[in-house]
Amino acid sequence: MYAVELKSFGRKKGAKVYTRHLRELIYLFYKKVMTLTTPLKKALRVVIVGSGPSAFYAADELLKNEQIEFHVDMLERLPTPYGLVRGGVAPDHLQIKGVIKIYERIALKPRFQFWGNVEFGRDVQRAELLQMADCIIYAVGSPNDRPMKIPGEDLAGSYSATEFVGWYNGHPDFEQRQFTVDTEAAAVIGMGNVAIDVARILAKTPEELALTDMPAPVIQALAQSQIKTVYLIGRRGPAQAAFTPVEARELFHLKDADPYIDPMDLELDPVSRALLESAHHRNLQQDFEILKHMAETKTNPKPRAIHLKFLLSPMEILAKQGRVHGLRLVKNQLLQDAQGNLKAKSTGIEVILNVGLVFRAIGYDGSPLPGLPYDAVNGVITNDKGRVTFASSESGMDSPRDYVVGWAKRGPTGVIGTNKHDSIETVHLYLADLAARPADTIIDSPGLAEGAAHPLAELLRAKKVRWVSFADWKKLDAQEIAEGQRLGKPREKFTSISAMLKFL
Ligand code: NAP
Repeated sequence: MYAVELKSFGRKKGAKVYTRHLRELIYLFYKKVMTLTTPLKKALRVVIVGSGPSAFYAADELLKNEQIEFHVDMLERLPTPYGLVRGGVAPDHLQIKGVIKIYERIALKPRFQFWGNVEFGRDVQRAELLQMADCIIYAVGSPNDRPMKIPGEDLAGSYSATEFVGWYNGHPDFEQRQFTVDTEAAAVIGMGNVAIDVARILAKTPEELALTDMPAPVIQALAQSQIKTVYLIGRRGPAQAAFTPVEARELFHLKDADPYIDPMDLELDPVSRALLESAHHRNLQQDFEILKHMAETKTNPKPRAIHLKFLLSPMEILAKQGRVHGLRLVKNQLLQDAQGNLKAKSTGIEVILNVGLVFRAIGYDGSPLPGLPYDAVNGVITNDKGRVTFASSESGMDSPRDYVVGWAKRGPTGVIGTNKHDSIETVHLYLADLAARPADTIIDSPGLAEGAAHPLAELLRAKKVRWVSFADWKKLDAQEIAEGQRLGKPREKFTSISAMLKFL
């Protein structure tokens, strides 16, 4: 088999293919060495904290390993798996959610167990897990939103995209939230994919929303929307837009809304022009073509408009009777910093937009976990290519066995697929570390023999934690789909943990 792989490697051409295969070859070599050198433990347990895409890609890579029989226990704070695919991906992007089928296949593998409704740091501690598992992989994402730190941010009518997206996706954390779109104009701050999602959802008709998996009460609330204008606000220029072309193009396909841009906003500074002309920025070039199309196309006026506005920074959210009444912005110009990056710099020229709602979609932030080092500047668990890096003595052991994947590793960037390579990198690093570790530091995980009690089940039972298994989740899933069918939509989600547990 080894020879066949080497042969096919020789036949492949092209730099990209070459690099990929070179990496594969190094990995094959390392696997071979590992087989010869690792004091082979037949079976090892790994705990993964979190159940989003990066968690499942890490589980898959472990379960595929041929040298070691890995057993994966995936812990999740909610009773439901899949992280942002369930609670963050836009409810009208049902095709993207189709990736769940791949995760489900992984979850149904024999050496995989899902432990929903179990929170790391509350129900189980790092030290307890490290006694039963050879390593912990943290896949906890970036759960917090970032504040703009401007006056008026806390007014009624000023919200983070995190809470609005959580609410319209039926996330249990936002079960108590209510949003009333009783204003004709809203501003969304940010030019990323989340900002586009929020603008698109605000502009959709009740008929369009009815085709999504949004909870029925949310669809009813949004159906009362008075919105006529949504402003999307970017602090830098059109050549620095953070959204991806597929998402931008969708704005042309809304039943009652069209996207608009002032052609003057597309005049570029020389550095941005050079950036766009360089062959390395295919996405930016495509984005710019789409923006040009928005500036050129005259369509029949629809009742709603999405205006993309660039080079504007929010300075203050204005109030009337304690509610958002407007947004004061300053016009920016782009200047290069010492590293050559283009930064927004105020020109001092102010602009006021009359809006009754402001959503900030300026990126997510991480959150520290108990017992783990945290890099507050980058909002990640402190790590080197996925290996958690403790300050000396901080880890409580000679050879730390903690790893991290996904947004908690690299920050909130990339699309779902980005997590696959990222998780594989971390798992390979763990395997290489495992091969180099002294034999007496490898954890002979208890409970792996057939018929043996699972140590995590014993621990949770002792603590009276009611965990949700994958079979339990499938019952919730079936109920959501059945209820959706009754209402003529893809699914009707449970939006509260207590309702899920009561049903089970
Ligand atoms: P993002 O892509 O990082 O975009 C954040 C935007 O906010 C940027 O335009 C940024 O401008 C702006 N911004 C940051 N700080 C600001 C400030 N203080 N004032 C004004 N503007 C500010 O973040 P995101 O939209 O939250 O998305 C997070 C990740 O999820 C991204 O990788 C995204 O692609 C992904 N995602 C993908 C999909 C999809 O594939 N359909 C959907 C949703 C999210 P600067 O560039 O100037 O910093």
